[in-house]
Amino acid sequence: MAIQRTFSIIKPDATERNLTGAVNAVIEKAGLRIIGQRRIKMTREQAERFYDVHKERPFFGELVDFMTSGPVVVQVLEGENAVKAYRDVMGATNPTEAADGTIRKLFAKSIGENSVHGSDSEENAAIEIAQFFSLADIVG
Ligand code: GDP
Repeated sequence: MAIQRTFSIIKPDATERNLTGAVNAVIEKAGLRIIGQRRIKMTREQAERFYDVHKERPFFGELVDFMTSGPVVVQVLEGENAVKAYRDVMGATNPTEAADGTIRKLFAKSIGENSVHGSDSEENAAIEIAQFFSLADIVG
């Protein structure tokens, strides 16, 4: 299996409840390494660019409001098949449908305030990592 990198965000609902360490513990237990990490407050411009693919969806405004409502932790994760491995440990978008032991089952508040983001493909992971990290800030 290939060693991959993926992009993660610990969202405002989780940082607000002081869950950064608890989320990171689940990530590391799943065999993923946190090789880049930074706590930031996203601007509207950053959030709108990041979620551009969803701009026609009815929840877009709500999503941008939420993602800019408090601090987030942006991360680069590395491991075997990291994109899928992280999607698996995140759980389904809607926490009521997420499997036991997943981050969203453990911590998410709702389909919108669902604690974490993870890239859905290796191609998108590279684009998303480049939006928030320079190479010098990623140490594998
Ligand atoms: P993900 O890949 O599992 O994060 O899910 P999507 O790519 O479908 O959606 C991106 C993000 O938009 C989700 O993680 C949620 O934060 C948000 N979102 C998705 N569906 C809804 C919805 O029906 N209502 C609201 N308020 N937010 C949503």
